[in-house]
Amino acid sequence: MDKPLTPDEILKIFKACGALLEGHFLLSSGLHSSQYLQCALVLQYPVHAETLCALLARPFQGQGVQVVAAPALGGIVVAHEVARALGARALFTERAEGGMTLRRGFQISQGERTLVVEDVITTGGSTREVIHVVEEQGGKVMGVGCLVDRSGGASFEVERHALVHLKIPNYPPEACPLCQEGRPLAKPGSRQAKARG
Ligand SMILES: [Zn+2]
Repeated sequence: MDKPLTPDEILKIFKACGALLEGHFLLSSGLHSSQYLQCALVLQYPVHAETLCALLARPFQGQGVQVVAAPALGGIVVAHEVARALGARALFTERAEGGMTLRRGFQISQGERTLVVEDVITTGGSTREVIHVVEEQGGKVMGVGCLVDRSGGASFEVERHALVHLKIPNYPPEACPLCQEGRPLAKPGSRQAKARG
C-alpha cells in the first residue's frame, strides 16, 4: 500500500459494502438513528479487511508488537489481519460467566507486547475489559486500535488509533427528528433496511 486511504475513502468502502447505512433505523436498544454501522459487512471481504487492518497496524509498526488481542466476535477478524500486518499472533477474549476471559488455551506471556484492537469502539467498555485480561496475564499493553471510533473520546492510558471517527446520534422515539419528519422506520438487517442502503 503506497498511499494511505483518507477517512473519506474509508467511509466510501464502508458504504459500498452496505456497512454504513443512511436512513431511519430502530436500534436494538430501542433508540432511533439516522445511520447504522455494521463492520462485519465490510470485513466479510478479505481484501477490505486486509487493506483496512494493514492501515490500522501502521502506527504500531516497529514497536515490537508480539500479540494482537480483541474481543469476540466483532474483533476477531481485525485482530487476525492486524497481526498479519505486524508479524504478530492474534487471539481473542470471550465473555463467560459475565466476565471477559481467554479460553481455548490462548496465553499471553509475562511482558509480551500486546496491542488491543476492536472493529468499533462505542463506549470503550469491552476494550477496557480486554486490556484488563491482557494485564492480568502479565502482558504489556502497547496501544489500542479500532477501525471506527464512535465513542466521541473514550479515554485509555495507552496510545490509541482509529481509522475513522464517527459520531452517530441516537434519539429516543419521542424526541426523534426523523419520526417527526414522518420517515419510515427500518430495522437494520431486515430486507427493508438493505433495500434502503
Ligand atoms: Zn425515529
